Amino acid sequence: MAEPLKILIVGAGIGGLTTASALARIGARVEVIDDKPEISVAGVGFGLRINGLRAVREIGMLEDVLAMGHPAPGIDNYDSEGNLLSTMSYGTQDEGLPGCVTMSRVAFLELATQHALDNGCTFRMSTTVSALTQDDDMALVTFSSGDQEEYDLVLGFDGLNSQIRRDYFGEKHAPRPVGGVAWRAGLPNRRKIMQPIICQGHGGKIMLTPLSEDLMYMVLTVAEEGRPRYDANKMAEIMHDRAVALTGGAEFLADALEDVRHAENVAYTPYSTVWVPYPWFRGRVMIMGDAAHTMTPYLGSGAAMSIEDGVVLAQELAKDQSLLDAQLNVMKRRLPRVRAVLDRSIESMLEEFDSVTPEAYRARIEHLRHDEPIANEYANRLLRMPY
Ligand SMILES: Cc1cc2nc3c(=O)[nH]c(=O)nc-3n(C[C@H](O)[C@H](O)[C@H](O)COP(=O)(O)OP(=O)(O)OC[C@H]3O[C@@H](n4cnc5c(N)ncnc54)[C@H](O)[C@@H]3O)c2cc1C
Repeated sequence: MAEPLKILIVGAGIGGLTTASALARIGARVEVIDDKPEISVAGVGFGLRINGLRAVREIGMLEDVLAMGHPAPGIDNYDSEGNLLSTMSYGTQDEGLPGCVTMSRVAFLELATQHALDNGCTFRMSTTVSALTQDDDMALVTFSSGDQEEYDLVLGFDGLNSQIRRDYFGEKHAPRPVGGVAWRAGLPNRRKIMQPIICQGHGGKIMLTPLSEDLMYMVLTVAEEGRPRYDANKMAEIMHDRAVALTGGAEFLADALEDVRHAENVAYTPYSTVWVPYPWFRGRVMIMGDAAHTMTPYLGSGAAMSIEDGVVLAQELAKDQSLLDAQLNVMKRRLPRVRAVLDRSIESMLEEFDSVTPEAYRARIEHLRHDEPIANEYANRLLRMPY
């Protein structure tokens, strides 16, 4: 019997942790490292749409995700005066799955860690790769601790600023700022919203997403050039002021706008994208997830794409074929799909930011009323395509 594959995953984020389970379930010996001392993440919540839910089903996490998360059938779009413009569905209940499930990021990471441990994966935290050499038979990794270990495959799931991408694929794939930012904060769900609502503002939007009956999170997205550094003690106040400026103080959101002023742990994320063209591997070193393809969050699918990457890799590695054939088949299956989602995520962001002047704002409102539900249905169908 062939020896099980020995695989190192660099990065214990959404993609790395779920891929660890996917690979362990096909019999691989998986080790995960992360430079952080413990599992943690910026931002309060996120959503998994049909593609992400399918992928977590594939690795045996679906029931726990459904139990932990909040089903969100669609999004209500409002203008800043509180007029409902359109309701967009996250899609039909394909395969008995909700169109989208929203959940706490930390809770998802804890769940994915537990699944990886249950599947026999091992972890080294506060650890990075100091050196990596490879030949035809194996990759030799030297860790920041000084320890050395041999692996059949090293996977860089180390996110937007990936060290593995920089060291083995070159600086030319560095993140590109796309001129927008997100401000995120957890808030009480006073109005008991059951599905996300969007308030379109001038040149950006506010989105409120429920995580439970009591908790929701606000994401404020707005065009903002440069990367100003803000005073960490004033983040809540700045986010509040941004929200008021964006929406003219939207009366119908008054409670949420006031709550932002007192929010803790406000996360500020300038948007950047990464696209590494074919191939995402150099011999036994491969990058996946945000390290290979960071999109904007406008289709709510970056995390889902990272999970899909790992599921597809595990499916190909489980086949009776060489590592190179498995890698080539992963590329054939992933490149067109991820590129289409990434492109749409950028277009969608630019459409929203182009609403600053009164005329552009009015055009945007008409777009949200009439055209956005159709654009959204395109996104639903794109995400529903098999991977
Ligand atoms: C505002 C916003 C909202 C979003 N909403 C959604 C959503 O609703 N749905 C969705 O599907 N996606 C969403 N996304 C995208 C999603 O968060 C990312 O696509 C996803 O987190 C990528 O997962 P990843 O595992 O590839 O990378 P990451 O989550 O970034 O994980 C990378 C990990 O690598 C570790 N690491 C980094 N460098 C090193 C190193 N040198 N050595 C060791 N470890 C290292 C980090 O500590 C981290 O744990 C959103 C993104 C943003 C910014």
